[in-house]
Amino acid sequence: MRREVRYGSELIGFEVTTNSILKDRIRIHVHPNCQVEVEAPPDTDEKELSAGVVKRGRWISKQLAQARSAKAHALPREYVSGETHFYIGRRYKLRVSETNEKPGTVTLKGGTIEVTLRTADKAAIRRRLSEWYFERANDYFERRMATVVSGFTWIEETPKFKLVTMKKQWGSCAPSGVIHLNPWLIRAPSDCIDYVIAHELCHLRERNHSPAYYKLLTRHCPDWQHRKAKLDGIAELILAE
Ligand SMILES: [Zn+2]
Repeated sequence: MRREVRYGSELIGFEVTTNSILKDRIRIHVHPNCQVEVEAPPDTDEKELSAGVVKRGRWISKQLAQARSAKAHALPREYVSGETHFYIGRRYKLRVSETNEKPGTVTLKGGTIEVTLRTADKAAIRRRLSEWYFERANDYFERRMATVVSGFTWIEETPKFKLVTMKKQWGSCAPSGVIHLNPWLIRAPSDCIDYVIAHELCHLRERNHSPAYYKLLTRHCPDWQHRKAKLDGIAELILAE
């Protein structure tokens, strides 16, 4: 639910997410999409939420200014050296170089994604990098699926998953029980990836987003609202091609 509070001359809008694991305290996040999230234990007093935002008003205001300016300077990707690219929640600098060897390679080195290609033009780099992301996504999601499913004692067999590029969705669960995952999710932080997997696994028992569904999801992932807000907050950044 959205709320507002006045801080000096500024009106700060914020979204409240509940997390039963938090005991007697709130956590404030400012996401790259300029959303302010207040994560709080269930049934936290309204006044306490607003007071918490006012108390950290200075910090929030500064974070918002930074997020706004970063958003304003966000340009479409050019696939040139020095550009920022995401991988499992981390920012990497792209480094492009040309080689006579075939095939081209992609390697992670420290904070760099190094792409070496015969013809290092934009389309070729983009294509090779996408292939690399898809391979990594397959590998990483398979491992995360195995880990996340181990907490779902009512699931007997680890479901199969398929990478499916989707414009606005991170995942879906087919009636056959096959889970579709958006390969670009590999750019998101690992807790967000686990959340999407848990979200789809819960659909194996509850098809629709009913109260029973959310009860199940909360049981398996108590801070799913925060993870969702975090993922929404970076969606634009990590879906940009
Ligand atoms: Zn769903």
